[in-house]
Amino acid sequence: MDFKYLADLLFPDVTKTPEEIEAAFPRRVLPEGAKVTRLAPSPTGFIHFGTLFPALVNERLAHQSEGIFYLRVEDTDSKREVEGAEEDLINTLAYYRIEFDEGAVALGDNGIYGPYRQSHRADIYHVFAKQLVTEGKAYPCFSSEEELEALKVTDKKAEIQNKDWHSDESAQRAERQAAQRAITIEEVKAHLEAGDPFVLRILALGDPEKKTPFTDLIKGSLQIPENDEDFVLLKSDGIPTYHFAHAVDDHLMGTTHVIRGEEWLPSLAKHIQLFRYLNFRMPKYMHLAQLMKLEGNSKKKLSKRDKGAALADYKAEGYPPESVIEYVMTLLNSNYEEWRRANPDADWKSFPFSIKKMNTSGALFDLDKFTDVSKTTISRMDADKAYAGISEWAKAYDAEFSALLERDPEYAKKILAIGRGGKKPRKDLAKWNEAKDYMSFFYDELFTQVDSYPENFDASDIKAALNEYIATFDPALDNNLWFENIKAISEKLGFSPDVKAYKASPESFKGHVGDISGFLRVAITGRQNSPDLYEITRILGYERTVARVKAAADKL
Ligand code: GLU
Repeated sequence: MDFKYLADLLFPDVTKTPEEIEAAFPRRVLPEGAKVTRLAPSPTGFIHFGTLFPALVNERLAHQSEGIFYLRVEDTDSKREVEGAEEDLINTLAYYRIEFDEGAVALGDNGIYGPYRQSHRADIYHVFAKQLVTEGKAYPCFSSEEELEALKVTDKKAEIQNKDWHSDESAQRAERQAAQRAITIEEVKAHLEAGDPFVLRILALGDPEKKTPFTDLIKGSLQIPENDEDFVLLKSDGIPTYHFAHAVDDHLMGTTHVIRGEEWLPSLAKHIQLFRYLNFRMPKYMHLAQLMKLEGNSKKKLSKRDKGAALADYKAEGYPPESVIEYVMTLLNSNYEEWRRANPDADWKSFPFSIKKMNTSGALFDLDKFTDVSKTTISRMDADKAYAGISEWAKAYDAEFSALLERDPEYAKKILAIGRGGKKPRKDLAKWNEAKDYMSFFYDELFTQVDSYPENFDASDIKAALNEYIATFDPALDNNLWFENIKAISEKLGFSPDVKAYKASPESFKGHVGDISGFLRVAITGRQNSPDLYEITRILGYERTVARVKAAADKL
């Protein structure tokens, strides 16, 4: 067959040559060892938590090596297209502060290796497709999907024909492909004249018995069987499949390391073949293990429906992006936690990320562990930062709380400053949607009586303690003197000012100083547990504290 003639029939409008395209994508000039990586998500409307894994590995490896990290939107599957999905994707990555040097941005492209959306690159793919046809490495296939489906021998058909076909899948494919490949130039012409759609298939002359040695940066040495499947390069709408777009784009954009999910590992044989056919140098590959969850005693893939899978939920519940990144880093590098303990305040980007310390089997998603990491992350923020996170979250998700915060930001920051700083900061919050409850007793509008007084005390003693506190409360007292006053109240009412003395002879007292503080705590905060009561009274101020205690005493 005259392949050149065939190529002109199929692609009459393609006049550029691969060399001309290559010239428009110059080699990158970067320092020795610099890695060029990319995140190449498909905007399907659902952003999986697992997206952050390749995102961070790609970002770290590029930026630690003074390389380039770019965003390519893989929007070639129009069947899965969802309105607004791309914008959501770009915004979400920005929200997690995944910083790209190049790539698709909200209103177009940033960089000279674009377009960075595959749907805008059809012309480029067609040049290389035409080249492959010219060289006899690809051919058109006019069979419709239904026809191909009908050719497939399924279990059912085999049963009807009483055939054992399982052992012979590849022979079957060979038969089908031989029929497809036998198309003549006259048949092609007739189809084109009739306006029949076609897909472009690779002519796969590989022998699966032959293996290519291949080193994956995570999986190690592999033996990849040659590909003998005439897979589709261009779909009938002229849009490429992932395989073809991957080869063309990663070559032209100068990607040095392809870091992607291990679900692509079985396609590697196709990619090796394509890079060879196109005469492109292959990048290095790293296939990341899937994120797993524990179900009973067995590990399962963290699937779309599982709690923790949707990245959107993290934002809605108010997990700070820092917590999420921190947790992902913990899962990515086995020595990250140790490093964090030694460098509690360091930026995560100063951690020396290493491929060697990566998990080769699937990392396990553990909500309890994540909660713990998030509490620690939040506890290390200063009050301003915590306030910024909470108020941003509340603005979007809780108007009532937002209004209270905005009314007096300084007041809210004072509340959030309790127990921050120092070696052992409090770990009250794992996410911002817990802040309202945590801060509620500082706002009369939100104050509720959550706990009642301990049952083993007389209401009259509790009342007496509250009244005594009102009578003696002096906002000028420092923490020590304030506590001395509580001790004095204890003594006066027959409670021991000293817990040890009480324990030595409980029958001599009604209770001890801790019980008196407990009554005050329930009266002032509405609960039996709270941060430091003295600090709480300082923030509430004289009037509000006294009013609270008075209201509580009146109810007894
Ligand atoms: N669009 C592919 C995906 O979302 C990208 C795989 C890759 O990084 O090459 O799975």
